[in-house]
Amino acid sequence: VGNDAGLPSSPGEELTDGHTPGVRRQDDGIIKVGLTMDTLQEERWIKDQEMFGEAVEALGAEFIVMTADSDDAKQIEQAETLISMGVDILVVVPHDAEATATIVNKAHAAGIKVMSYDRLVRNADVDLYVSFDNERVGELQAEVITKLVPEGKYVFIGGADTDYNAHLVKKGVFNVLQPFIDRGEITVVFDQWTRNWLPANARDNMRAALRANEGRIDAVIAGNDATAGGAIEALAEWGLAGKVPVAGQDAELAAAQRIVAGTQTMTVYKPIRQLAEVAAELAVKMAKGETPRADRLVNNGKLDVPSVLLTPIAVDAANIDETIIADGFHVREEVYKLI
Ligand code: BGC
Repeated sequence: VGNDAGLPSSPGEELTDGHTPGVRRQDDGIIKVGLTMDTLQEERWIKDQEMFGEAVEALGAEFIVMTADSDDAKQIEQAETLISMGVDILVVVPHDAEATATIVNKAHAAGIKVMSYDRLVRNADVDLYVSFDNERVGELQAEVITKLVPEGKYVFIGGADTDYNAHLVKKGVFNVLQPFIDRGEITVVFDQWTRNWLPANARDNMRAALRANEGRIDAVIAGNDATAGGAIEALAEWGLAGKVPVAGQDAELAAAQRIVAGTQTMTVYKPIRQLAEVAAELAVKMAKGETPRADRLVNNGKLDVPSVLLTPIAVDAANIDETIIADGFHVREEVYKLI
């Protein structure tokens, strides 16, 4: 894998002034890792923040994090702040895949490498992308659901159009659905994105899908557990919760509980600790000027970005104990609502 993105090979060097006034790398020997996050809306991002921060600190580096609350201007401003604080590497969870290209350009102008964390920044010279295989997430969802419902009317509740992950998941879903669609066995009767991944938007989309089809829906594939939750609320209004299979992703506690209760069929578990630890290790390496190992290339519209993609795991009622509970991702008593 060629992962020489053509960037300065010795990022520890002093900045060439003139690019970004007032910005200077502080050479106090301690590596500073800056993380700019889109949101803490979903449960997983709290884990990402904590686990990534812990892993960075365990490697002897300093950790600075800012969260943009789904606001592009705010995320760009926060990234500028991190750059001016002298971070040695900038890690970005983009809100808007395209808008955040500016962040990559600004960091590079300051001689700082950029890692795309979980979500890919599009159309910019991203140095490394560390995530789960998001296309595989969609395939896992559709594989489980098509086994249960090999024929019928499907609803696709996508994630946020602004998040490239949502597109990758959708690609994976349709990789699996397409042969069924071609044979005329499955019809996708509704296919919409969910603005900002908001559950209320997903609920409204599901309501629209149910109205348009007079309640005759056979399966739902949702972008994540939060949007699956919104969709299940709408199904419940039609007395269909637990009758229509629903897929999500993230293995959120609420989703795990719904799987036990039977209102959600499956989720996709992405072990966040793995992601956080791998990303922290590679971020610190990059900050030291080392070339991170990558196992594949993912095109972001501008270049093939060296990438490390971890493996997602399908979880349903049958394997919930041996996956998310065995892993300590959730406590058994909470999943089964025993306490
Ligand atoms: C992540 C999901 C998350 C969603 C909403 C996606 O990019 O991969 O895990 O649920 O964003 O925050």
